[in-house]
Amino acid sequence: MRTLKLKKGNLDTFLAKISELGELWGPRKKGEVYIYDRIDDLRDLVKEPVITFLPIKKLFLPPRFQMLHYDGKIYEENINQFEQRIVYGVPPCEIHSLLIFDKLFGLKYKDPYYFKRREKTIIIALSCTPSSACLCKSARTHVIEEGFDLAITDLNDFYLVWVGTSKGDDLIRAAPELFDKNVTQEDIQKFIKWREVRDGKFKKSIDFVTMPDLMDLNYNSHIWKEFAEKCLSCGACSMVCPTCNCYDVIDEIELGDNSVNRERFWDSCMFKEYSMVAGGHNFREAKAERLKLWYTHKLKSFTDAYKKYSCVGCGRCVITCPVDINILSVVEALLTGKVDKDSLLTEKGK
Ligand code: SF4
Ligand code: SF4
Repeated sequence: MRTLKLKKGNLDTFLAKISELGELWGPRKKGEVYIYDRIDDLRDLVKEPVITFLPIKKLFLPPRFQMLHYDGKIYEENINQFEQRIVYGVPPCEIHSLLIFDKLFGLKYKDPYYFKRREKTIIIALSCTPSSACLCKSARTHVIEEGFDLAITDLNDFYLVWVGTSKGDDLIRAAPELFDKNVTQEDIQKFIKWREVRDGKFKKSIDFVTMPDLMDLNYNSHIWKEFAEKCLSCGACSMVCPTCNCYDVIDEIELGDNSVNRERFWDSCMFKEYSMVAGGHNFREAKAERLKLWYTHKLKSFTDAYKKYSCVGCGRCVITCPVDINILSVVEALLTGKVDKDSLLTEKGK
């Protein structure tokens, strides 16, 4: 993989140059949180690494989108209207979440809505240092070897830029004069030091390797009922988790002209209606069963099928769940057989 250097002061010039090749997207501040958004003014782009409120999945499978329109005679699929995009600032854990989606949506029947957007998107990854909720080192998602076109590491005096694909190379060729090919031994030492400092900043860890067994052993444990007593079934954990991918599809029929819009939207196995089938039977009516399914998916079943964890350690469930049911509190309960009720809030902040 080719590696180059970019002077700190040249990042804006580079981003301005490449925004001529496609729409520029990246994190920007919205109220108290960061969101991925289209960037029309570079001053709005947050150039430092941040964890956005919703993960990168929203750019590839938006929370709600139209799949097709039927006008009463013919139908048209909405899969060819995507513009070329360049997304800046994707952290390593989210690159891993996209690699998981590539697998899931690329099985026997490829999901055209996901892959068309994927084909039209160039990704610039940005290395980060962990916040207090980050678990990516435990999940081994703090480093990336694939899944990006360019990857940038901020080494204070300059950026180290890894070129991952030919699309990434095209970006460099838009402004080759900004880059220095001469990566010296001193630069390499700076990178090694940066990596050591980053690795030393993780505050939380999970031994993911032991989790499939612990999920099996705790299948009938009382912990699921205890968590269920607090869970609000709000589904927020699914919405913010970069690897949750459940969706529903509905046909909205316009009265009068026979036209139909087929809409696809995010769903969650935490919702009671999710497992309801024709005739009204519900396979997971109990909250405890739904919680167990969610964590089985994160800690066991995906590992069995794909030899990868489907938790990429982003920490969003830790930040988001209003009653503190999250990957950390659940793993703690799996290990000790006890739910720490004092740390489970009935409502955050109370
Ligand atoms: S675990 Fe937390 S975020 Fe998830 S559904 Fe229950 S209350 Fe909502
Ligand atoms: S389970 Fe939690 S920490 Fe893991 S990827 Fe999902 S939101 Fe992030």
